[in-house]
Amino acid sequence: MRELDIAIAGCGPCGLASALLLRRAGHRVTLYERFDTPRPIGSGLMLQPTGLAVLAELGLSDAILAAGSRIDRLSGREGSRTVLDVRYSALRGRDAFGIGIHRASLFSILHDAVLAQDIAVHTDHFVTGSRPVGAGRSLCFAGREPSRAFDLVIDALGTRTPLAPPTGRDLAYGALWASLDWPPGGDFDPRALEQRYARANIMVGVLPVGTPPGSQTAQAAFFWSLRGDRLAAWRAAGLRAWKDEVLALWPACASLLSQIDDPDQLTFARYTHRTLRSPAEPALVHIGDAWHSASPQLGQGANMALLDAWALATGLAGVHDIDAGIARAVALRRRHVRVYQWLTALLTPVYQSDSRVLPMIRNRLVGPLSKRWPATVIQAAMVSGLVANPLRVLGLDRRR
Ligand SMILES: Cc1cc2nc3c(=O)[nH]c(=O)nc-3n(C[C@H](O)[C@H](O)[C@H](O)COP(=O)(O)OP(=O)(O)OC[C@H]3O[C@@H](n4cnc5c(N)ncnc54)[C@H](O)[C@@H]3O)c2cc1C
Repeated sequence: MRELDIAIAGCGPCGLASALLLRRAGHRVTLYERFDTPRPIGSGLMLQPTGLAVLAELGLSDAILAAGSRIDRLSGREGSRTVLDVRYSALRGRDAFGIGIHRASLFSILHDAVLAQDIAVHTDHFVTGSRPVGAGRSLCFAGREPSRAFDLVIDALGTRTPLAPPTGRDLAYGALWASLDWPPGGDFDPRALEQRYARANIMVGVLPVGTPPGSQTAQAAFFWSLRGDRLAAWRAAGLRAWKDEVLALWPACASLLSQIDDPDQLTFARYTHRTLRSPAEPALVHIGDAWHSASPQLGQGANMALLDAWALATGLAGVHDIDAGIARAVALRRRHVRVYQWLTALLTPVYQSDSRVLPMIRNRLVGPLSKRWPATVIQAAMVSGLVANPLRVLGLDRRR
């Protein structure tokens, strides 16, 4: 492929990784971001073997391992009953693990790498749309002149992108998230994502996320599942009532809750389930959450965004025209995207819904069965993002 002039809209993990991969392939890359100083929103997330494979290709593994926290298992309990017990070690023959990481750490590692490559980053540019110009496309901004015409615009603006038609649905349940200091005393497993449930309408979770930039201590991402339409009632009831509810479910959380004295320390995240029918338009491609987004129940979104970035660079490398390159990239990703959008839609109500039946099946049937082979392997593959063999499809497997 000849050298292309490419605009990337959005400095999330997808936009930043795409910029690095496409720059490395010899293209001219310009990033646009709404914030005046690029910054991440939110608390922590989990990187899976899929996303980690892309970060390894970017030479960022050591930085990610140092900043994050290695996760070996996911566990969930309702009362004394273990209903979720996923161990990466079930994937024999692979040194599989996850990394819990603060968003600020992931962002700053990718952003520093972008700056080191002298990639142009235009901040304070709020994208409102795009328009075709000849065979190329320009970006439109709030209160600014449109950009020059690029050979290709990459939409990495996330789930509420203005560059794609609205689609999908907002989910009833979201969650309150906070970043808190990791509590001393051994109440929580530093190598596990731990959750406690009461049916599917109550869930609290603790994820170790390593030490983010500017912090002296390791942190935990703490989350509390909540229906979006109950947010006002949660605020009105006050912190004391909420803390009592959390402690009744999981007394060990006292050391975390003692760090919260203002409701504004918790940020409410709304979840959306959407998949564009086709992510490819003339001189425009939607990737990452701009193509597909889901509740973070299976913890795949950032990892899928990184795989999309890799697929796009791979697709463009193998052909002579842009449309063919994008079509190839989409073909490389479509099956995995379909499978995980479906799996996430299927599993989310088991952990976040008003259903009484689903959590009963989860606790009585799926929980006990899941401790036996081959369910142990299937669950580990699912959480790792490895169902549908995305690494082999993308040529990333043989490299590890
Ligand atoms: C609470 C929560 C927990 C999650 N946990 C996990 C997890 O454990 N594992 C996992 O893999 N995924 C997780 N996810 C999903 C993950 O965060 C997303 O899938 C991932 O961030 C998508 O990356 P992206 O780069 O495509 O989009 P984003 O991260 O949304 O980045 C979009 C970028 O575009 C910028 N932007 C947006 N609109 C405009 C505009 N109009 N003009 C200019 N710039 C704009 C934004 O500022 C941002 O920098 C979680 C999500 C949430 C909400």
